[in-house]
Amino acid sequence: MPMVFPVVVDRVVRVTPSMVRITFGGVGLDGYATSGEPDEYCKVLFPHPGSRDVVIPPADGEELPAGVEPAPQRNYTIRRFDPDAREVDIDFVVHDGGIAATWAQQAAPGDHAALTVASGRFEMPPAGHRLVLVGDATALPAIGRIVESMEPGRHALVVGVVAAAEEEQVFRTAGEVEYRWVHVPLSGVGEALRSAVEGLPLPDGQVFVWMAGESEAQRAVRKHLRHVVKLPSGSYSTMGYWRFAREEWEERYEQVKAEIVPTIEKADKEIADDEEFFDALDEIYDKVGL
Ligand SMILES: Cc1cc2nc3c(=O)[nH]c(=O)nc-3n(C[C@H](O)[C@H](O)[C@H](O)COP(=O)(O)OP(=O)(O)OC[C@H]3O[C@@H](n4cnc5c(N)ncnc54)[C@H](O)[C@@H]3O)c2cc1C
Repeated sequence: MPMVFPVVVDRVVRVTPSMVRITFGGVGLDGYATSGEPDEYCKVLFPHPGSRDVVIPPADGEELPAGVEPAPQRNYTIRRFDPDAREVDIDFVVHDGGIAATWAQQAAPGDHAALTVASGRFEMPPAGHRLVLVGDATALPAIGRIVESMEPGRHALVVGVVAAAEEEQVFRTAGEVEYRWVHVPLSGVGEALRSAVEGLPLPDGQVFVWMAGESEAQRAVRKHLRHVVKLPSGSYSTMGYWRFAREEWEERYEQVKAEIVPTIEKADKEIADDEEFFDALDEIYDKVGL
């Protein structure tokens, strides 16, 4: 089974003004499979800027020829997978800058890319639990899949942080869904995600909160759910999908890397519980202004 599946763009449609749906197909998708989790995602490998072809990593253990740079790759949610039609849809937010967003904005039928194996981690909570799904535009593909997988009788609250009313999306479902939309410019997305979660009435038990989006906001939301609301770790899941001003964060990371990496590795070895590890990581990052 290949780990990387070469694909060809079949169709490109606008879902909203800033979201492009690309349908990938081609014989390279033979053998592609869903993980079954509705938030499943893969890495998309893109051609280097100026090239049409994607550098496909060689089989296990082999190296790329000298002078060949690996393909740029980014994480994207599998919005739809149809094994019979051999099609995968991915919804790309087309923001300024970025190899992926620029490629998606210009994509046309016949263009090449590649996908890695899909995996996810969302598990539908037991019946009777209310779902709270919070995210910015990048999380809407996963929220869409989760909502579409809800069974009759299931309730969900979707809190979406988007730029404007035209960016809102409503998903088909057998369950019952209430939507709350917050409209903010890009610079306000993090704060809006934070305050949306802080303003939620979260009843004890019987609730599962899923949040994804900007990474600083995700850190704050995780802290809030764990330390303020005191939800048990099985009652929430948060994931950073992208970082506002990523270049500045990475520059700072490079400056402090030598100082913090040994402490992070030590914490990773000594702390078995994921949430306790994230607490330790937050503390390490906070100390160095990351
Ligand atoms: C599990 C997972 C699933 C994801 N699913 C999706 C998905 O289905 N659809 C989707 O659009 N994204 C999704 N993302 C987010 C996507 O991977 C990032 O936005 C990615 O950084 C985009 O790459 P890029 O090359 O366009 O920009 P980068 O090269 O990463 O960044 C370039 C610049 O753009 C900024 N930037 C990056 N992303 C955004 C953004 N969304 N809005 C505004 N500015 C941005 C950065 O801060 C940086 O300044 C997902 C991420 C994860 C981890």
